[in-house]
Amino acid sequence: MSTARVIHPRSVLGPDLPAVPYAHPLRAEFRAWLSSNGPEGDYPLEQDDRFAYRRAWQRSLAAGGWAGIGWPVEYGGRGAGSLDKFMYYEELALAGCPEPANTPGILLLGPTLMEIGTPQLRERFLPKILAGDEMWAQCFSEPDSGSDLASMRTKARLEGDEWLIDGSKTWSTFAQYADFVFVLSRTEPGSEKHRGLTLLIVPVDQPGVTVRPIEQISGDAEFCEVFLDNARAPKDWVVGEIGEGWKAAMTLFQFERADQGFTDHARLLVELHEVRELPADLDDAERDELRRRWALLWTRCQELRMLNLRMAALEDDGVTVGPLGSLSNLVWGELYKEIYDFVAETVGGTAAVARDTVASHDRVHSRAASIYSGTSEIQRNIVAERLVGLPR
Ligand SMILES: Cc1cc2nc3c(=O)[nH]c(=O)nc-3n(C[C@H](O)[C@H](O)[C@H](O)COP(=O)(O)OP(=O)(O)OC[C@H]3O[C@@H](n4cnc5c(N)ncnc54)[C@H](O)[C@@H]3O)c2cc1C
Repeated sequence: MSTARVIHPRSVLGPDLPAVPYAHPLRAEFRAWLSSNGPEGDYPLEQDDRFAYRRAWQRSLAAGGWAGIGWPVEYGGRGAGSLDKFMYYEELALAGCPEPANTPGILLLGPTLMEIGTPQLRERFLPKILAGDEMWAQCFSEPDSGSDLASMRTKARLEGDEWLIDGSKTWSTFAQYADFVFVLSRTEPGSEKHRGLTLLIVPVDQPGVTVRPIEQISGDAEFCEVFLDNARAPKDWVVGEIGEGWKAAMTLFQFERADQGFTDHARLLVELHEVRELPADLDDAERDELRRRWALLWTRCQELRMLNLRMAALEDDGVTVGPLGSLSNLVWGELYKEIYDFVAETVGGTAAVARDTVASHDRVHSRAASIYSGTSEIQRNIVAERLVGLPR
């Protein structure tokens, strides 16, 4: 195994914070583990290689007891609280290590199964999710249902011991690598909106499921269309109750907005740190302008870090974070794009639309940050109505 990068945390992430100090034993333990168990070789540029790299990395994290640290000990995790996870993700970013491959399984479906899944489903799926033995993708969005998810039309009906599912899903991240997908489907004929839905687990390797990757401007095909044509799923592979799919989806979303979503500031601060040395061929005015922009971006990252810390502390106190999660998501999504613009302009050249450098690839990819897990417009609506109290 190679040795992970060692950088002093304060110079990258900002001030030491008493609630999550850099000298905390959890950080020290994880840092020590990372220094001798970091992933092998450089992070590849090609998507298939990158996914394989992240999968191998997940196996290694799992073997060391560092995958899914928020999972209860009985399921192979460490029972870590939100402040612990805050420190964990900061250390992961500082070490330059990617997230494990199976984020839909570890962060979304796994915790949802622990909350509302049957003992049989937990036993069948949880160990392989954590170990990276089975990969997962989320099939919620449809061609005509994204922000307005409750308008979705994929149907499922019970026939004997199986569900038969028909419909088409889209934007399913890494479905081309998935063994299973979790599918929100309409199981009560004639039902509307959030009523009559059921969350089903569907195996991908069967004639009724076709996965078609969608190529993006970045050159990646990170997400896919998933066509379900009489796709089959065992009768008992229902997450939550039949007809209560909306409740199951909301349970799952609550995990999407928690966990590493609280700590994405760390990767942004690492990016900024990497471009703190400005190019040599600038005149004074250009240098001053870039310095000013850098300082402003760093300051906004610190604001995000404080907001994320506040949310993690609230979670640990048993307080539901609610719309604060939308505020964090909104700030992060917009900052993400601005930081990668800055990185591409300083490192990759101003015409960074090409796919052939990491900076330009990341810049193009960053456009998605204000779309997935809720667009910026939707987050603004939630913030305006539920945090600020403005009328609908
Ligand atoms: C990188 C990436 C990965 C994704 N991964 C997955 C995945 O794994 N599984 C999955 O199911 N989905 C996934 N998605 C889909 C994502 O959840 C949707 O793209 C998102 O919810 C927006 O839906 P939409 O694309 O249909 O846009 P629409 O909902 O059609 O929105 C179009 C535009 O209208 C705006 N808009 C819509 N409604 C309102 C409103 N009420 N008020 C103001 N403005 C509004 C939106 O902000 C947006 O600008 C992914 C998307 C991306 C970009």
